[in-house]
Amino acid sequence: MSYDENNIFAKILRDEIPCSKVYEDDTTLAFMDIMPQAPGHTLVIPKEPAETILELSPEAASDLINKVQMVAQAVKTAMKADGITLFQLNGAAAGQTVPHIHFHVLPGSILGARTHASEMGDPAELEKVAARIRAEL
Ligand code: AMP
Repeated sequence: MSYDENNIFAKILRDEIPCSKVYEDDTTLAFMDIMPQAPGHTLVIPKEPAETILELSPEAASDLINKVQMVAQAVKTAMKADGITLFQLNGAAAGQTVPHIHFHVLPGSILGARTHASEMGDPAELEKVAARIRAEL
């Protein structure tokens, strides 16, 4: 499947639209989910263009899981969460809505949470939470 260069995360990577950034390096970007399913809900994406984990190079996949682990640790500490859920959807049939591979880092449990939140987070609150997580990285 061909990669859509105009998906919203590609635009975030090109700095065409803003995000509440938590972490960035040469290969990875982490930022707050705009419709958090829980406070501290963070997304971690590779810079390599790939729609799902199946198209990602093995090198980028292994780098990504290391960054996910690092961000998850920071989210857990910053949010004082007893548990952290990681999830990652591949393809519209699996519920993926943004066609650039991403890991969700969610404080607490996904059980009982909505699969997709329907309310936009308050931008000021998202930025406050992002700062707390950044301080742990
Ligand atoms: P998925 O259903 O796994 O594709 O999740 C996509 C996630 O991206 C959802 O949780 C959305 O709330 C989130 N999202 C969509 N647009 C943005 C955006 N501009 N900034 C941050 N998160 C976004």
